[in-house]
Amino acid sequence: MKCARWLFLVLIAVQGHFLAAQLFDVKPVTDDVYAAIARPTFRTNCNAAIFILNREVVVVDAESKPSATREVIAQIKRLTDKPVKYLVITHLHGDHFQGAEAYVDAWPGVQIISSESTRDGIRSQGITRMQRELVTVPIAMEKLTADLKKASDDKEKATIEHQLSEAQAYLTELKQMKVSLPNVTFDRRLTIHSDTDTLEVLFLGKGHSDGDVFVYDPKRRVIATGDALQGWVPTMGDASIYDWLQQLKAVEDLDFKYVIGGHGDVLQGKDTLILWRQYFTELLAETASAAAQGASLEETKSRIIPTLLDKYGSQFPRDFSKTVIANVETAYRVTTTQTK
Ligand SMILES: [Zn+2]
Repeated sequence: MKCARWLFLVLIAVQGHFLAAQLFDVKPVTDDVYAAIARPTFRTNCNAAIFILNREVVVVDAESKPSATREVIAQIKRLTDKPVKYLVITHLHGDHFQGAEAYVDAWPGVQIISSESTRDGIRSQGITRMQRELVTVPIAMEKLTADLKKASDDKEKATIEHQLSEAQAYLTELKQMKVSLPNVTFDRRLTIHSDTDTLEVLFLGKGHSDGDVFVYDPKRRVIATGDALQGWVPTMGDASIYDWLQQLKAVEDLDFKYVIGGHGDVLQGKDTLILWRQYFTELLAETASAAAQGASLEETKSRIIPTLLDKYGSQFPRDFSKTVIANVETAYRVTTTQTK
């Protein structure tokens, strides 16, 4: 009896540890296509799109750290014994490429594919930003430590302590990270042929970044879109918004039923794409109109943000009230200086 109770406690502990470590929920999308949906963590991980072809596996995007990517790899190995032969990196942001070395470790022959601009962007900006995090993460941790001292209730304290432990683990891992750059690049289109399957790897112009890549499976009517279209809110720090509108029009012209974006849940159909295009159009038009009337950035913000919040706040699931401020700042810069 004592032994059984001990075993029970061990099982609970093991299960507890497993649950605490789980960073992804793997969901079937359609035949042999899965999405590893990232749960929130201190350093955001992207989702992974997993296409199981008849001889090999194609994965889209590689998280913010190898330990997270190893968790995706473990999930892939539960789904199939086929090797990951191709890893596609959609854009230069660290939450999409920093875990790539885990695929190289697991399958040394893996081909890492991106557009030429994305490879250039990782080399010129992505790596610098990783190095900058060696400074910014400790600053964030200092702030969390200060918040912890001020926290009054136990729940808040536990949340901050958890964030601090995630931040410390990320910082430790960041110091040892190796960048695995894409070793195959393309300019407009690359096709992966695999007996009965064909996947199109597409560059459809600038948008969320200068090098956005889409992976389109015409047979299963699935498209993986990185952050050019995803389930959270559009972020525009490196975006070319006018080009993005054209890019999303080209995406809309494709025949698909499911969208596996870089963040948030799997999207059905084209509703979110249409919403994003409508939002971009209105954001640009309202900002340009205010700027043309001589409004400063601050005046433009106070004039149009309430309208945008009122109209789109309920349609974007996460942090729109913060992101809309940055979006207007980008749109103001774009419409007043014509850069990007
Ligand atoms: Zn992202």
